[in-house]
Amino acid sequence: MNLIFLGAPGAGKGTQAEIVCDKLGIPAISTGNMLREAVKNGTPAGLAAKEYMDRGDLVPDEAVIGILKDRIAQDDCKKGFILDGFPRTVEQAEALDKMGVNIDKVIEISVPDEKIIARLSGRRVCEGCGASYHLDYKPTKVEGICDSCGAKVVQRVDDKPETVLSRLETYREKTAPLKGYYEAKGKLVTVEGQEEIADTAKLTLAAING
Ligand code: ADP
Ligand code: ZN
Repeated sequence: MNLIFLGAPGAGKGTQAEIVCDKLGIPAISTGNMLREAVKNGTPAGLAAKEYMDRGDLVPDEAVIGILKDRIAQDDCKKGFILDGFPRTVEQAEALDKMGVNIDKVIEISVPDEKIIARLSGRRVCEGCGASYHLDYKPTKVEGICDSCGAKVVQRVDDKPETVLSRLETYREKTAPLKGYYEAKGKLVTVEGQEEIADTAKLTLAAING
């Protein structure tokens, strides 16, 4: 089962991907987490990506496509995977097609803009393992400390209010057209994001199995 989770920044793709991948026994692949990891480790790819990410712009297609291609070639992807945050442009979707990857379903998680802004301002992420949290919707058990790995939980640079609006604009301009791309292939299913993470998870699983 090869799935794509599509949605605006803060719609909850990553959170849902973490839940669903456990249930289906396939890895969730977040290009955002992979890029943040590369930035943290100071690799050449990370150094090149950092300025784009900090501004809220997309990292150039050829860089992200290369990273993704290597990742899905790994053994744990043989039974399938969930792509979270890829593709983000029509060019990336076409590259995936060219790699011969068959996508079973594209799950769009839809949340109104005014809610997105509130969600992003409360979002926190683990510096160690990349797990995501939210001050109100998904707090850590101990303040500021990751439940799963014990590392520090911080606000992403690009979740600061100045950057959020430009990320939403980028989403509308570059990523939203993917809805039409996958709808035309009969693969798009839309899930309305709910207040409670567990409620969205039920709808997401129903959309995958339905
Ligand atoms: P969100 O979904 O909240 O925007 P991500 O963690 O998916 O956050 O992505 C963070 C940043 O990483 C993006 O703003 C972008 O700069 C970069 N990025 C992640 N995935 C891609 C991609 N597929 N193509 C280009 N840039 C990407
Ligand atoms: Zn952690």
